[in-house]
Amino acid sequence: MVKKSRRVIFAVLASTALVSAGLTGSAGADEKNPVPSGSAAGPYVDAEAQLAEVRAAQLHSEGRWAGSADPGKKGLQRETREDLYPKFTDKELADRVAEDQKRRANAPAPDPDAGEVMATELVAEGLRVDIYTPPPGMSPEHLADILRKQGKKGVEVVRHGKAAAMPMAPGDCAYGSARTFTCPVAFWTNNGFEDPLVRFNDHTPAQWPVTNAVYKWHQTPNIDSAYRFNSCPFQAGARCVDVVSANYGPVWTGRWSGFFPTATQSGPYRENGQVIQLNDYYTPAGWTRNNTVTHEMGHALGLGHNVYSNDVMYFQANMREDIGGENPALLASIYSVYR
Ligand SMILES: [Zn+2]
Repeated sequence: MVKKSRRVIFAVLASTALVSAGLTGSAGADEKNPVPSGSAAGPYVDAEAQLAEVRAAQLHSEGRWAGSADPGKKGLQRETREDLYPKFTDKELADRVAEDQKRRANAPAPDPDAGEVMATELVAEGLRVDIYTPPPGMSPEHLADILRKQGKKGVEVVRHGKAAAMPMAPGDCAYGSARTFTCPVAFWTNNGFEDPLVRFNDHTPAQWPVTNAVYKWHQTPNIDSAYRFNSCPFQAGARCVDVVSANYGPVWTGRWSGFFPTATQSGPYRENGQVIQLNDYYTPAGWTRNNTVTHEMGHALGLGHNVYSNDVMYFQANMREDIGGENPALLASIYSVYR
């Protein structure tokens, strides 16, 4: 059943703007580790062990997790007021898209060496996919090497060029510079709601602006993002994505981890098992915590990497914090179908 009018998607690559204006300066940058944040980072935590713990806790209580120590009083922040972050109207969305297009036209071309690092492994729950955001200055190859040495399976670097060549049919796999993971797409099902409901269960301290990021994405039409603080009680049809942070050492700034039901990485997401991990190791330099939180959350909703180098969904952490217009427009398209 198609419940909402499908948006007309102009799957036009702004490729001329992307390739015509020269390179960003970061190609071939030294792979030096940014300065760790010292005492704020806390003791080193094994990211895989933490992930296993979080998932075990999710399974233990129907996928809900409230097991961590209370990291603060974030539940009282202004950003938890959903009514202050209404959905974009068609006009607001169109204005934002136009802004994005203008920005791209004036921007330098993306770093041709930029790439994502992805690890895929077929496990009992489905196809597990981890996507890593490298810190500025670290090449995807270097990050991939670290991950392989750590014993991570199915590690590969996916180049910008490959993403840019993603097939455009059936129309809701790309919008401007925004991309889905795969085509056909992976998506959250409605489960009886008019819009699918994704609840982000925040276990991080105040330095990570999870509240703010949740409601930025909530403004996207056709998909609802809700904020929960350290507890995600059962709600029929809704799901929880845990958001945690720790000192994971000098690897990535953020990591999204989830399960696809099939090896083709398309179709409905598995209801449980998506987790976002945010690294306390790094002090922001050339990126912001808001950028990283917002970016990983975009993955959780179904977005792949944006091909525009100054977008919040670009491969590498950067200074961009707003969700732009093309990312929401692409999500609005994906979720214009009731399924
Ligand atoms: Zn990413």
